[in-house]
Amino acid sequence: MAGHHDPDLYFDDGNIVLSVKDGKQQTIYFRLYKGILAKNSPVFSDMLAMPSPPAMDQYDEAPLVEMPDDADDLRALLFLLFTPDSISGLLNSPRFPRKLLEPTRLAKKYQVDWILQAVASQLQKSWPTTLLGWDRAITNDHEQTSLMFSGGPMHNDGTLEFPLLPEPVSSIHLARLCDTPAILPFAFYRLLTWPIIDDDNDAEAEFYGCKNAPCEELIAEDWPRLVKAWKRVGDWFADEVSSVPSNTCPNRPPCQQDASAWFSFSQNVGRNGDFLAFSRFDATTHSALLNGLCPLCKPIIQEQIKALRWEFAGQLSHFFQLDGGTV
Ligand SMILES: [Zn+2]
Repeated sequence: MAGHHDPDLYFDDGNIVLSVKDGKQQTIYFRLYKGILAKNSPVFSDMLAMPSPPAMDQYDEAPLVEMPDDADDLRALLFLLFTPDSISGLLNSPRFPRKLLEPTRLAKKYQVDWILQAVASQLQKSWPTTLLGWDRAITNDHEQTSLMFSGGPMHNDGTLEFPLLPEPVSSIHLARLCDTPAILPFAFYRLLTWPIIDDDNDAEAEFYGCKNAPCEELIAEDWPRLVKAWKRVGDWFADEVSSVPSNTCPNRPPCQQDASAWFSFSQNVGRNGDFLAFSRFDATTHSALLNGLCPLCKPIIQEQIKALRWEFAGQLSHFFQLDGGTV
């Protein structure tokens, strides 16, 4: 039988051998300790507690269990079980959702709770759940992105609470696996407003974590959700924003809002749905909206824009049908 021993996970005094077929139909053998498998996973524990039938396959004088999983994914999970400290390096990588997605799927299957909990906690630390958190994360993200594409040094010194927003596709998968629905509204919002990645630009694709991201998989499952969200954002915008440019100016003649600024604002939102970006205090759109207003009216409109942003953020669960409604 064609196959080889895993270089890191074949212990000479191990008392169980797991085998798995890789993509080239080569068999990989892991020689491990039953006690460690059982301690980590009730599924392994039950599997190993069953009395071995006398005819059970043996390999290298240990009982052999053939595993049905993907070889790389199983290896990644077993590596975590036998070197648990290695998870912190993965979790602290900006691309942790992509790196941990497959091992976490298997951790769910084999009920390795500590991995699910560690991933859940990192998701919660990495994804904002409020408008304030989102604005802070996006500011950091823009700074890092412009440094990245200007060839400047990355200065992620670990002091930022959200050094970068993680890639949303894998994050959404992970949130479902690890039962952390709180991160979904902003993760879906990120996906809705996701920049169009230039496939030929390796640095950009790598940076956004899009290369190898299971985008198609998510789209198949959540495409109707995104399409519907797009429509809901548009409807919300039409409803809410029509009330903003009300003219209560006490001056005679009253000051005039720049109608073309509102037109381009709504066009921008319609184009990619990123209402929060276009209405930010430091956004060009934001200052254009205040052009032509007198000093009395400016702060009033500014407050209205601010209130709209809170309103919008509060509606994310509704936009993405995460509030119990059906898609
Ligand atoms: Zn005025």
